[in-house]
Amino acid sequence: MSKKGILERLAEGPVIGDGGFVFALEKRGYVKAGPWTPEACVEHPEAVRQLHREFLRAGSDVMQAFTFYASDDKLQNRGNVAQDKYSGRSINKAACDLAKSVAAEGDALVAGGLSQTPTYLSGLGKEATQKEFRHQVEVFVQNGVDFLIAEYFEHVEEMEWAIEVCLESKMPVAATMCIGPEGDLHGVSVGECAVRMARAKADIVGLNCHFDPEVELEGLRLMKAALDKEGLKPYLMAQPLAFKTPDTNKQGFIDLPEFPFGLEPRICTRFDMHKYARDAWELGVRFIGGCCGFEAYHIRAIAEELSAERGGKLPAGSEKHIQWAGGLKMHTKPWVRARATREYWENLRPASGRPYCPSCSKPDAWGITQGSEVLKQHKEETTSEELKLSKKSLQCNGDS
Ligand SMILES: [Zn+2]
Repeated sequence: MSKKGILERLAEGPVIGDGGFVFALEKRGYVKAGPWTPEACVEHPEAVRQLHREFLRAGSDVMQAFTFYASDDKLQNRGNVAQDKYSGRSINKAACDLAKSVAAEGDALVAGGLSQTPTYLSGLGKEATQKEFRHQVEVFVQNGVDFLIAEYFEHVEEMEWAIEVCLESKMPVAATMCIGPEGDLHGVSVGECAVRMARAKADIVGLNCHFDPEVELEGLRLMKAALDKEGLKPYLMAQPLAFKTPDTNKQGFIDLPEFPFGLEPRICTRFDMHKYARDAWELGVRFIGGCCGFEAYHIRAIAEELSAERGGKLPAGSEKHIQWAGGLKMHTKPWVRARATREYWENLRPASGRPYCPSCSKPDAWGITQGSEVLKQHKEETTSEELKLSKKSLQCNGDS
């Protein structure tokens, strides 16, 4: 029997996505922070497979092939030599094989993914940028993925070019930008971005990464209002961070001084994810997943929250997790047993345990984007001159 496709599933109810592969695998020692590219698919396939399994067990309906930043130009940028070593084609193919093998262990779909490119950032134009996308989409078609996700785009122009290439595959297309309520980095409002993605014929539109669930849903609310106004009805999708970002500006968590190695105090709890899942569903978001910081237990919380909407279905991982902390009734200490209620966890304001730490940060605000000279990318390593320039700007920014 053939699997139900993504659009059919979305028509029936909530579809649950997976979590952030680069962040999870970086912490486990399989991905390099900085380039954030997915050569782990060929170097450590067992690590990638295991992470897929964890998300499947947590209730994910979609295994996103680990092809984030796997365009040829990103695999060979600023001293990264993954393209020379393995080729983009082999990394993308290995990612498809891994996602497919785990999806077949359950009833999950496989998505191939595209993301923003150094070619676009460097201002090399539509043809060159689309050539990068096309290389990946060819591999996705050859390897029989179920649909495509263009995600993590900061500029709607590049997103439109990506959607155009995705449509050549004839597969359903999801499109999510890593922007917040302030809009894209060229100043296009978040509502207008949604309208342009829908007009470009993406079946599913929304946001991913860069902001916490609350901020991201604020952006989605604006998207929905703009789409409604234009009479456009794509499915909505959210895959936010699992880090709290109330203090971010337009660029999201990239601008936080804690990015990327000091973000742990900001991690959302599973109960934050119950709230996120409920709020997203009530807003009309149908594809509900996560990005950086999301681990399997966050996804499981979403699946448990929306269990009734999914016909009473619970993830396999719920076998070890009686909803709303019910398992704590088996604890030996009475004061811990007393925490076995929904009310307790819903109302808890967790202490961060970090004395003398501020609750919020002052984000960097360079205010530069595509079109700026300092964002031009190159294959060679970042030079010490370039690094000096960055440090100087960082200091100026810190002092201001
Ligand atoms: Zn992310």
